[in-house]
Amino acid sequence: MEDFKLIAVKCRTCDSGLTVEMNDSIVYCSSCGNGWEIVNDELVPVDINFAKPLVQGQGELVYKGFWLVDAYVKILSRDSSGGWISSLFGGSNKTEGDVLFYVPAFWMQIESVKQIGVNFTTKNPVASPQKYNVKMTGFNFSKEDAKKIAEFIFLSIEAEKSDTVRNIQYDIKVKQYKVLGVPFYKQPNGKLRDAVLGIEVV
Ligand SMILES: [Zn+2]
Repeated sequence: MEDFKLIAVKCRTCDSGLTVEMNDSIVYCSSCGNGWEIVNDELVPVDINFAKPLVQGQGELVYKGFWLVDAYVKILSRDSSGGWISSLFGGSNKTEGDVLFYVPAFWMQIESVKQIGVNFTTKNPVASPQKYNVKMTGFNFSKEDAKKIAEFIFLSIEAEKSDTVRNIQYDIKVKQYKVLGVPFYKQPNGKLRDAVLGIEVV
């Protein structure tokens, strides 16, 4: 666990003051729309886009960060007894291909990571994210975390969907990391529900 810190930094493009919460690894400048990854206390440019709210909900709309992990996935071998077909590579019986993993980058319970990660990754609901003039805070996970969580989402999709898969060997090569701001409703019950697929997280 790192020490808590609150640092005052300025946007490298427009000089606006940016508030960085403790342990944030990404900061978004809502004045000029540029995003920054904090690497060893330096601001490194990162491309940030946002998803449009699609479903109705109750409560204030807030934007939370996801990593979009653009990867090439290859299933090397699998040991299954049933007629099992991967659903990740476009329906046919392919065993490799491009996958865009939606990895939540803020704290939530592991069951919620799985539910929202699997649903977003298999549905790919944000085909053309856009620049928005909004605030995004609470970006807790680094790229290294994102890769591990992407792997967890992959295993949740491929290995846990039936009892027939006993063993799976795979290779995940990350091509690119991008950042996506996803709208959530801060509901009266205190829980967040995303405004794209309508999944509640705890
Ligand atoms: Zn700026």
